[in-house]
Amino acid sequence: MSTFDDLLIQAAEAISISQRPVIFTGAGISKESGIPTFRDAQEGLWARYNPEELASPRAFQANPELVWNFYQHRREIQRNCRPNPAHHALAALEHHKPACIVITQNVDGFHQLAGNKKVIPLHGNILENRCFFDCPGVISCEALPADGPVPPRCPQCGEKSLRPNVIWFGEFLDEALMTASLAAVEECDLLLIVGTSGVVQPAASLAQQAIDQGKTVIEINPEPTVYSDRVTIFLPARAAQVLPQLIPGPVEN
Ligand code: NAD
Ligand code: ZN
Repeated sequence: MSTFDDLLIQAAEAISISQRPVIFTGAGISKESGIPTFRDAQEGLWARYNPEELASPRAFQANPELVWNFYQHRREIQRNCRPNPAHHALAALEHHKPACIVITQNVDGFHQLAGNKKVIPLHGNILENRCFFDCPGVISCEALPADGPVPPRCPQCGEKSLRPNVIWFGEFLDEALMTASLAAVEECDLLLIVGTSGVVQPAASLAQQAIDQGKTVIEINPEPTVYSDRVTIFLPARAAQVLPQLIPGPVEN
């Protein structure tokens, strides 16, 4: 059986020879930045809710104020957080291999902040808002009045219907982003899965596709997931600990 160090060497070698790596990330990569995942996450005031009770259209219809406040709480946490060494290592990877693409389920924008240019934000951006009733346009949090109704009014229809520009449980993904993600996985020569439980569909099926196609797949997660038994190399470790060891600098910002 291979030791952890053997696996690290094999993974570093696979990454170094890859020309078209794709990285598929989830909430775990931002955990060491201080952003809680949904599953470990429910703290304090929010402990009694399931993610689906706070992050779904049904939840917003039932209690828009509660859902808005939950997202304001998450935005407040994020304001005090920064990308961590795992995000920076992936920015260095794009620097070495310009064809590299990050597909992320995260809504924090930390890959872009760390310097990655080719990022597919499958689940949207938490610092933006749009109308629950599909009025056109996206409004940044910065553009919202500091004290107004909760949730804020949509400038188009006048309803108190602004919601975060993220994909909620039970909603469809943006078709163009999903098509681009499928193409990226199809064309990649290596898939690196980092910090995702692989239970949120249809995003999770992207990694499944690469495994089914027999691609080289490396997974980094301190806990085994639905993928771990089927990937080429499973590294049971924290992303910020292991990614900087796998990818040489320079760390460009
Ligand atoms: P998840 O909460 O289902 O799973 C997180 C995974 O990260 C777990 O498997 C856990 O073992 C792993 N993990 C924990 N610490 C880690 C570390 N230090 N390094 C590597 N892995 C670590 O997250 P998910 O699969 O992304 O699905 C949750 C959904 O919630 C996503 O759709 C996402 O949009 C949303 N979400 C986003 C953020 C964010 O933007 N940062 C945060 C919470 C939830
Ligand atoms: Zn509207």
